[in-house]
Amino acid sequence: MSNRIEKLFNIKYPLVQAGMIWCSGWELASAVSNAGGLGIIGSGSMYPEILKEQIKKCQEATDKPFGVNVPLLYPNIAEHIKIILESGVKVVFTSAGNPNTWTTILKQAGITVVHVVSNIKFALKAQEAGVDAIVAEGFEAGGHNGREETTTLCLIPIIKKAVTIPVIAAGGIASGKAMLACMILGADGVQIGSRFVASEESSAHINFKKRVINCKEGDTILTLKELTPVRLIKNKFYGQIEKAYEKCSTSEQLQEILGRGRAKKGMFEGDLEEGELEIGQVCASITEIKTAASIIEEIITEFNTAKEEIKKL
Ligand code: NDP
Repeated sequence: MSNRIEKLFNIKYPLVQAGMIWCSGWELASAVSNAGGLGIIGSGSMYPEILKEQIKKCQEATDKPFGVNVPLLYPNIAEHIKIILESGVKVVFTSAGNPNTWTTILKQAGITVVHVVSNIKFALKAQEAGVDAIVAEGFEAGGHNGREETTTLCLIPIIKKAVTIPVIAAGGIASGKAMLACMILGADGVQIGSRFVASEESSAHINFKKRVINCKEGDTILTLKELTPVRLIKNKFYGQIEKAYEKCSTSEQLQEILGRGRAKKGMFEGDLEEGELEIGQVCASITEIKTAASIIEEIITEFNTAKEEIKKL
């Protein structure tokens, strides 16, 4: 085994499933891990007791390594970290916050820590904080995202140059060819989110999964930079945001429109009009709901074929 990401996590393929609120519970995480990738439980949409139960179920469903994603902008982080430490979780991905806050505590407990970044400044900050690897996420990615709008194609080479720790590319990756492209750009592995939203094991509502596989190019937008930038599907709810921008609304007014629980309403309860539907640009190329294992098999087969094909160039 020579790949740094395979070695770091002790997994078969350098392929990580993104932690995604309302979409990645124990069913998806364990299915990805059982198929040779690194499955991740998205803790952002879980109350502490639910996270505890999800970790336990994941441990029962797989003997392979898996991780927990902790988006640091959510409440109850200290409680989540306590549960992670007590449950014997071996890998934690932190995102949307300061890597200095929890890295040392997690590392002291022997946990492998990865932080998600969207620019060089935070990549260096994460490296200094002592993380084992970073996820470099480009503008194409779904959900919470960077403000700089740097695409994955531009981001990976500059991040690779700036840091010495392994780099996992994210944003716009749903195929073996895209995986290979990112690794040619310097990534040691990839993180894939949107493709796994449309999987059998994802906990997303079926309405949302079906919407994802019917998305066309241009259906998503990165918006709400005044609050936390997020890429979502343009729907009735987004129409309200657009109107607010036309009226030059303040951040407070935008926050009022967003309200509480929009993401749950859209992605978990399946309200495609009033809910917030977070997904990446790559949804335009996703056309089928499949099992996590068949998604991984397809990606790895295409990756290996593309690696051979490229020699002919
Ligand atoms: P909200 O803060 O809007 O609402 C909380 C939701 O999470 C509820 O649905 C709640 O479920 C559920 N939940 C799960 N675990 C917890 C917990 N530990 N504590 C509280 N609630 C929990 O959640 P969002 O996920 O939509 O947004 C999270 C944060 O991200 C907010 O700060 C929000 O403002 C921000 N955000 C910003 C966006 C932007 O600016 N672009 C876009 C989306 C979110 P239940 O209803 O069952 O209690």
